[in-house]
Amino acid sequence: MAPAQVVILGGGFGGLAAAHRLRDRLGEAAAITLVDRRDWFMMGLRILWTIAGRAARAGGTRSLATLRRRGIRFVQDQVAGIDLERKAVVTAGGTLPYDALVVGLGAELRPDLIPGYRPEGSNLYDPEQAEAIAARVASITEGRVGIGILGLPYKCPPAPYEAAFLIDDVLRARGVRGRVELEVFTPQPSSLPVAGPAACAAVEGRLADRAIAFLPGRKAVAVEGTEVVFERDRRAYDLLIGVPPHRAPTPVKTSGLATGEWVRLADLAICETAVPGVFAVGDVTEVPLANGMMLPKAGVFAEAQGRAAADAIADRLAQPGPGDRFDGVGYCFVEMGEEMATAVRGRFLATPEPLIEIAEPSARTLEEKRAFEATRLEAWL
Ligand SMILES: Cc1cc2nc3c(=O)[nH]c(=O)nc-3n(C[C@H](O)[C@H](O)[C@H](O)COP(=O)(O)OP(=O)(O)OC[C@H]3O[C@@H](n4cnc5c(N)ncnc54)[C@H](O)[C@@H]3O)c2cc1C
Repeated sequence: MAPAQVVILGGGFGGLAAAHRLRDRLGEAAAITLVDRRDWFMMGLRILWTIAGRAARAGGTRSLATLRRRGIRFVQDQVAGIDLERKAVVTAGGTLPYDALVVGLGAELRPDLIPGYRPEGSNLYDPEQAEAIAARVASITEGRVGIGILGLPYKCPPAPYEAAFLIDDVLRARGVRGRVELEVFTPQPSSLPVAGPAACAAVEGRLADRAIAFLPGRKAVAVEGTEVVFERDRRAYDLLIGVPPHRAPTPVKTSGLATGEWVRLADLAICETAVPGVFAVGDVTEVPLANGMMLPKAGVFAEAQGRAAADAIADRLAQPGPGDRFDGVGYCFVEMGEEMATAVRGRFLATPEPLIEIAEPSARTLEEKRAFEATRLEAWL
């Protein structure tokens, strides 16, 4: 009998976790194909270290082609569509039939949705722009630097604040901090609403300690020259480091898998969509919490969802085993500058609201964050 075809779209946290779990569980019983338009993987946290001049992107970048040595077929191609009727993925180069499908295409960055915003060399979430931002942070001598959250939802909610703390470190080390104003703006009412009041107090307290201005409730509607236009006022920046609006990738929307902007899961524990045999993991999904907020988009959740989807597929294609189920338990490291980090850990699916704990910042937690990257790169690629 021909092996079952399992196709994974996206070689990010979710897709890589799913691919490896499927390979481990299914052996020769399935052909596993992972498709990504890029031939490399790098974690977003490397962008922050690159901007701060602490590490280079290359040190955290791995080739997806190495998956082939692990028995996972890697196809570098653009996914153009998903034909749910015919059970086939349409790529720029051809068609890939599947018996089971894992969609882990992440979120697309859409700076074009803010009129006038053209972030050449200042998009905080684009790995290709990290060196340009680092160069600007390393050369600015006076003026105002703004780190702006330009749309909701956005992935890794603490990342803009981490960027602020790390840039603060760089400007202090350069001796120019007294002449460079630094601030963060967000449309949200507080820094990390989903993490609760204690986490917000920790982040906002640290911003205040470091003289980094915090501007909540600022919804950017346009950029005009050096000014960001908010609903009620406007502000000029010498350097605007932005987090552009996020949207679901086009093939996900055109396939009909997304009911609104994002994919809602019919069975959250195994990350199966309303279409049997089609699973969605990571940033492309939207998971409502008991308090009406949404699960943060984060690699740690994408990874857990990838494993849960893979176990459900393996249960069906081979024999049921003691598989993972997605339970919304996760954590996020938050770098606070001065070589320290804290960790926000939570049971996000708890009722009536998520149960979250935040640790005191420490050098040890920053070490844990470094290990978070190293262990996954080692295991996956
Ligand atoms: C600055 C920064 C710091 C972060 N820090 C952390 C952190 O410390 N901890 C944490 O848990 N999370 C962190 N994150 C968030 C994390 O990166 C994402 O939540 C995570 O990558 C989501 O995983 P995913 O598998 O859903 O999507 P992704 O990792 O984004 O992978 C999606 C893949 O799909 C591919 N793709 C998309 N569209 C197509 C297409 N049409 N055709 C072919 N391929 C396509 C992309 O090339 C990409 O490789 C950070 C993010 C940023 C930007």
